[in-house]
Amino acid sequence: MRTGIGFDVHAFCDGEHVTLGGVSIPHTNALAGHSDADVLVHAVMDALLGAAALPDIGTLFPDTDEQYKDISSIELAVRVKVLLERAGFAIVNVDCVLVAEMPRVAPYREQIKQNLSDALEIDKTRVGVKATTTEGLGFTGRKEGIAALATALVCCTKQDVLGEASGLRVKSLHGFGSPAEIEDALNGWFAANAGVEVVSVQIEPWANRFAAILVYRQRG
Ligand SMILES: [Zn+2]
Repeated sequence: MRTGIGFDVHAFCDGEHVTLGGVSIPHTNALAGHSDADVLVHAVMDALLGAAALPDIGTLFPDTDEQYKDISSIELAVRVKVLLERAGFAIVNVDCVLVAEMPRVAPYREQIKQNLSDALEIDKTRVGVKATTTEGLGFTGRKEGIAALATALVCCTKQDVLGEASGLRVKSLHGFGSPAEIEDALNGWFAANAGVEVVSVQIEPWANRFAAILVYRQRG
């Protein structure tokens, strides 16, 4: 099992609704951002990625990339779930706290939980959504923006299951731009781990780059 944390802030700007947990909520302002500025989903995604020690959303979905302009963050959460799966992780639960004076989130809580549950393909009982104010203090208290915190727990499916059953282990090497880079990384890993027997090597697309997933066991 591994845990991760996520934190995000977006400032208010002119507009008539905010998107929180994939729900468009009428408000006197919007939230500024390159995507839909869904601060809650952003914190949840970073918690999940952090639990798997994968790069954060700013790295995976850069705000300089036009393909992410105004994109639904719930859609990005689906991609994060796929990345975790590929790296051998299953999501156990997520919990998040929205920090804002306004708007009130309670009427939308069930829909937010449903959206996160659908995107991450986990039961609604594994999604915590809470909201709090800062009693008028700080930037959230002055209604300058909204902050969100999240935690996530994931279990390492491939490693746990394979490891217990047969002594097999899984190693992922991430972030390669070309087949030559993958080959270099694999050769480096083989050289540093001469005592292992490699059972399989799988190359996967990974956040516009490539990852190599190795299954191996110790010799003897
Ligand atoms: Zn954000």
